[in-house]
Amino acid sequence: IDNAEIKEIVPILDVKGMKAIAATFCPTDGHADPFKTTFAYAIAAKKEGAKIITHTPVVKVLKENNVVKGVETNKGKIKAPVVVNAAGVWSKKIAETVGIKLPNQPYRKEIMVTERIKPLFEAMVISFKDGIYFSQQKEGQILGGIPNPHEKKGYLTDPTFSFIQHMSKTLLRYAPTLGYLRVIRHWTGFYDVSPDARPIIGEDIKIKGFIHCHGFSGHGFMLSPMVTKLLTEYITDGKTSFFLEQLNLERFKEKTIQKEISVVG
Ligand SMILES: Cc1cc2nc3c(=O)[nH]c(=O)nc-3n(C[C@H](O)[C@H](O)[C@H](O)COP(=O)(O)OP(=O)(O)OC[C@H]3O[C@@H](n4cnc5c(N)ncnc54)[C@H](O)[C@@H]3O)c2cc1C
Repeated sequence: IDNAEIKEIVPILDVKGMKAIAATFCPTDGHADPFKTTFAYAIAAKKEGAKIITHTPVVKVLKENNVVKGVETNKGKIKAPVVVNAAGVWSKKIAETVGIKLPNQPYRKEIMVTERIKPLFEAMVISFKDGIYFSQQKEGQILGGIPNPHEKKGYLTDPTFSFIQHMSKTLLRYAPTLGYLRVIRHWTGFYDVSPDARPIIGEDIKIKGFIHCHGFSGHGFMLSPMVTKLLTEYITDGKTSFFLEQLNLERFKEKTIQKEISVVG
């Protein structure tokens, strides 16, 4: 779409300030609250008979002769023929307990939310050039983030003042009318970044029953329904798929890595 259409869809955008020459817009795209979605899945899973045990970290995966036998937690052992390692940036530590070295690296990512204002726009705005993304929530808050170009890998969790400065400056270049808004909260999370910024999913080739499901590199929320479907089909029926074959851990043994470029934040 051209600059006039950008203004029609998100009227608060300053197309000159953001240095836009064009944009893409998909009316069927959407955004959802990750916290509410997670709890909704948990409630639905419980209805189907799943047992969810919280505050019980896995300390070790148990195996015998390269076959998974279960997990050891801080409250005891749980027997299982299949263990899915979906511990985000901590998957690396879980994999180490069975001698697997994952290539993923944790990167701190910061995000902020403003006070509520009247509805101004519906689309989520993303720039691949500046890395900024922001949207307006149903309740009226503006929620968004931007990468710190100097961020180093590691398990860092402190929010930084430089993020607020960088985010505010860039956001005002995109939407100057938001200048009077107050930031009410700012926090950090992680991107679990794989070498090609694509997830690592599927059964380990050496350890039967040990399933990789990590390395989502900043886009795991939107991929999660399909990844879960594919892994469920594999675990319950042994059904494999093009995606599972493409996204296995073994791909990093090849010399050339095709990196995903559509990553923001
Ligand atoms: C600021 C920010 C913005 C983002 N925006 C988007 C977006 O717009 N769209 C999108 O698709 N994605 C987005 N993401 C990425 C998305 O949040 C992740 O890709 C996704 O959460 C990864 O899911 P996961 O289940 O692999 O890991 P996580 O969500 O990190 O979950 C891992 C879980 O494992 C648990 N755990 C850790 N260690 C253990 C252990 N030893 N035993 C038991 N449990 C353990 C943790 O407590 C945690 O609950 C964003 C991320 C951040 C930080």
